[in-house]
Amino acid sequence: MTAFEISHLSMSYGGRRRQVTALDDITATISEHQKWGIVGESGSGKTTLLKILAGLVTPTSGKVSFFSQPLDRSNKEVMAQLRMSVQMVFQDPRSSLNPRMKVGDIVSEPLRSPLLAHRPGVPRDHKARVAEVLNAVGLPHSAATGYPHEFSGGQRQRIALARALAPNPRILLADEPVSALDVNVRAHVLNLLNSLVDSMELTLVMVTHDLSVVRHTCDHVCVLAGGRLVESGKTADIMNHPQQAYTQELVSAVPRPDDGPLQARQTRLAQ
Ligand code: ADP
Ligand code: MG
Repeated sequence: MTAFEISHLSMSYGGRRRQVTALDDITATISEHQKWGIVGESGSGKTTLLKILAGLVTPTSGKVSFFSQPLDRSNKEVMAQLRMSVQMVFQDPRSSLNPRMKVGDIVSEPLRSPLLAHRPGVPRDHKARVAEVLNAVGLPHSAATGYPHEFSGGQRQRIALARALAPNPRILLADEPVSALDVNVRAHVLNLLNSLVDSMELTLVMVTHDLSVVRHTCDHVCVLAGGRLVESGKTADIMNHPQQAYTQELVSAVPRPDDGPLQARQTRLAQ
């Protein structure tokens, strides 16, 4: 099944005087159970695309359908289904976790949302579900009684992941989920994300500026530059036979295992 059908999507910010074109005529299909990487430099429109898929931003023109239904922010039923099935993880767990809330309440927050509370498939026993997802991300049950500041960056991103997984979503949208973390914990969190997506049979759309993260995690990739879709396809094809000069440059900048000093980094990512 097609999760998202994106057709001639464009997005401009700002008024008549100063307009910024964040996305320019994007067309793509994201099928269920695929793991998509959206790659591009800072300012290329990656976050904007993810926010549109999350129903947080209305595009200027073009269409997105979500499981064959037009994604329209005024259509309450579609938005409810989107809230049901799609969860997001953001770049910086410092700002995405409420510092005044206990971890258990943070993780169970989506379960308490009026939109999700009585939907089939959404766990009713919140305490048990919190324990279950904390366990899934490798944190002890006792983490539920702590506050975010008591945890390291990597642990906080695990908490954000637990919160996203709590309501049993079908789709996970992740915006640079490891960029804000120390290099030595990135691979661990990425591996965790990867194995949870596989075991929970989720569809993943992950934004990153780092092609080696995509190579490690995603089976499909699309490359954005200046709001335009440069190239998209299977990760192996793009990595081995990039067609566009821009992509060729990106790919050649990804360190290879035989590149000497960078080997350590590659090895870590491969673990
Ligand atoms: P990326 O995530 O790839 O860095 P973004 O989607 O955040 O790219 O931004 C794409 C372009 O849109 C950038 O030029 C950015 O400055 C602009 N932009 C993003 N959000 C807004 C906003 N809320 N208002 C105005 N311009 C924005
Ligand atoms: Mg961004």
